[in-house]
Amino acid sequence: MAARRADAPNWTIPFCKILDLEEAHGFDNSAVVGGMDQFIQRWSEQMSPLVPDPSEKDYLLQPAYAELLAQERQQWAARWRDLLSGAGLQPSTLSTNSDGSPSKGQRGAGATGTVSAPPERVPSMAASPRLDDGGPRFGKPPVGLTIDAPIDKLRGVDSKLAARFQRLEVSTIRDLLYLFPRRHKDYSQVAKISDLVPGQEFTVVAQVWEAREVSLGQRGKLKATEAVLSDETGNVKVIWFGQRYLARSLKPNSRVSISGKVDLYRGQLVFESPEYDILTARQPGLNTGRLAPVYPLTRGLAVQTVRRLTWQAINGWLGAVEDGLPAPTLERTGLMPIREAISQAHYPDSSYNCEAARRRLAFDELLTLQLAVLSYRREREQDIQGIPIKVDERVLHSFLGSLPFPLTEAQQRCMQEILADLGRDTPPMNRLLQGEVGSGKTVVVLAALLAVAAAGHQGAIMVPTEVLAEQHFETVRQLFNSLARPVQEDNLITAYIEPLEHPITVGLLTGSTRAKARRDLVEMASQGTLDLLVGTHALIQEGVELPKLVLAVMDEQHRFGVRQRSALRERGARTAHSLVMSATPIPRTLSLTLYGDLDISTIDQLPPGRQQVRTRWVGPERRQAAYGFVRKQVAEGRQAFIIYPLIDESEAVDARAATEDYQWLASDVFPDLRLGLLHGRMTGRDKDRVMRQFRDGELDILASTAVVEVGIDVPNATVMLIEGADRFGLSQLHQFRGRVGRGQHRSYCLLVSNSPSETARERLNALEQINDGFHLAEVDLELRGPGDFFGTRQSGLPNLRMAHLSDRELLNEARAEAARIIEEDPLLEGEHHAALRAQVGRFLAEASAEFS
Ligand code: ADP
Ligand code: MG
Repeated sequence: MAARRADAPNWTIPFCKILDLEEAHGFDNSAVVGGMDQFIQRWSEQMSPLVPDPSEKDYLLQPAYAELLAQERQQWAARWRDLLSGAGLQPSTLSTNSDGSPSKGQRGAGATGTVSAPPERVPSMAASPRLDDGGPRFGKPPVGLTIDAPIDKLRGVDSKLAARFQRLEVSTIRDLLYLFPRRHKDYSQVAKISDLVPGQEFTVVAQVWEAREVSLGQRGKLKATEAVLSDETGNVKVIWFGQRYLARSLKPNSRVSISGKVDLYRGQLVFESPEYDILTARQPGLNTGRLAPVYPLTRGLAVQTVRRLTWQAINGWLGAVEDGLPAPTLERTGLMPIREAISQAHYPDSSYNCEAARRRLAFDELLTLQLAVLSYRREREQDIQGIPIKVDERVLHSFLGSLPFPLTEAQQRCMQEILADLGRDTPPMNRLLQGEVGSGKTVVVLAALLAVAAAGHQGAIMVPTEVLAEQHFETVRQLFNSLARPVQEDNLITAYIEPLEHPITVGLLTGSTRAKARRDLVEMASQGTLDLLVGTHALIQEGVELPKLVLAVMDEQHRFGVRQRSALRERGARTAHSLVMSATPIPRTLSLTLYGDLDISTIDQLPPGRQQVRTRWVGPERRQAAYGFVRKQVAEGRQAFIIYPLIDESEAVDARAATEDYQWLASDVFPDLRLGLLHGRMTGRDKDRVMRQFRDGELDILASTAVVEVGIDVPNATVMLIEGADRFGLSQLHQFRGRVGRGQHRSYCLLVSNSPSETARERLNALEQINDGFHLAEVDLELRGPGDFFGTRQSGLPNLRMAHLSDRELLNEARAEAARIIEEDPLLEGEHHAALRAQVGRFLAEASAEFS
């Protein structure tokens, strides 16, 4: 029988027996006729003095036992046993333990009178002592509904509220469960009123003495609720501005918990508009007395509402979330089970658990990403042998010899890496070639294409815009300059390279290629007499065939969808090699995360003699001076870019709207200059027209939103002025900056920012000082985290919400587990992988939604 203190009152004898019986019956609430709650109600007055900690009274004396899960009943019973045996009366167990764990003996549940075991590691922040019943319940949704039910299935969510959640990309209950807080406010330290000190944040659990509506301000216009709260150590005044309705909710003698800053007002301690919870036995405090979640919000959505609903979802629905991690993986990694992790990510018991939850969820993201990458790759490579290309060294040699410059070391290294891949027989190359704008990627790619053509095959480069395609074609023309036939057609280059008997032909195919030229190109391509083809999406349109295609190159790959990427390769044999080019430098950890085991070549060196762009950030008071500078440069015959932050109409950002500003620039600031505007809602044709005008010097200034990649080479452009520079990531700013400084004229980058935050200022400073793209990318990652690195729009990947770049170990573990899982069950067909398969499926769906 449960232990009893010697001086325990008589009623505790049957109570101990009841607890024993409950335990014997697996806590099925059968020990008392009519249920445990009956017993408690009958005896609560006598039981009360045994509960020394007032904050525990509700939990122990009004537990709604019938509604608890068996495990919770067990915990409740264990706590009572502590008290009955006297163990629970040790002072150290009455308040928070030194390790910050809740001191209700809940962890040691079952064993008589045990005090919770300390966690393995000491958390940095204190735990939230639970004010009421324990944690949430992980219930299951009503019959017929799944976790993917729309969010309005939650109590208190109407279509208006659902629409607001939609703005946070939350439409289902699963989405809501995965809407993780940005951070937590540490309201876990509960203080007595006598301990309050002005100027600091506290949580107080107290009784409402009185609460009333008051009128403040000069004409009494400002309504507020004023309350006096008391605990056994004193009382304190609280005022909630504007919230007059509260006066009615705060009934005298009800118990509330408030968290916030205490101030001294006319010699009196006052809480001003603190967060609060009205405490009942049923609903624990969500806003106070704990690590309180802070969510991303949107207009019309209060944090308290989000808390109420995440809590509801955890309690009523979380049980339907299946753990995607196979049992062996869970065991090997020792990670938290999924339901616990989701629950702890929202409402952590301690900062230790909060981090453990984050790690589990981050692991899921990384593992899913790895599996998606591996399965995609596997599908692609199944039984495929790449066609080995024997590189004709003499051809390569005479091409390189014809160039007006030697390759940089980095270019040579990357070229060798690519050629080595092409020479192998299995599997086909799958490589990323990255290097800053101007680092000379085209010549490296051209060398590879040439090797392919010399061996009798075809190659293609696809780029996202017509202007870029023309630019590539132009670069190729220049590189072939000394080899090409003097008379050239607009869309075709023919170059003679020793010792090849046949000339190499390169075609340009875009949406605006004339019908006749297009017909000729398409015919040559399908007959295999056209060696290389440069172009836009036009390359993957109906009718274009490249039967001998063995190398498909894609520039700025993040702007193409997965389907478009494979579409190009599929123009040829499935064995085609694939090379993607990117000017966005990606640090190693991130590329491993994003591309799995995609091979990477990096041109980490610019050709000699490149000038540095002088970079300055400019406060709003110097905007006019900046405009004056632009004007001066234009007067000297130069051109300028002006970039505006992305304008998303659904967002009420105070960014200067590009179109409006453009009108203003054109009519008020530069009325005498020739201006052009580019923005994301223009048709591709219109965009190309404006870019061409600028390239050809018909415009002095090109104003553009960030959505439009101004990926054009205009050596005459010397000023890059970026408005709202604090809204961009470092890498993106660096990309913009790379658009100038490409000719012989000294070039400038002006970063205009109204009121940069501290991190924004750090970014802008870094940009002023650092010119190296990789160095900047590392700094950017430190400052922003991987999710924001590319900007969601550009990444073509779902955001990693929980994974950090510093999670290297976790990333390695995820890669190892992914490899194990794939090894055992390549297509995730096993029953034990059903949940995981679904998870990867959701991930791919989200990814391709962003791609297309
Ligand atoms: P990226 O595509 O990497 O931005 P490009 O391939 O367009 O760069 O090259 C930019 C310019 O630099 C081109 O005009 C090219 O001819 C030139 N270039 C490439 N490699 C070298 C080099 N090693 N030395 C000097 N100029 C080079
Ligand atoms: Mg380029």
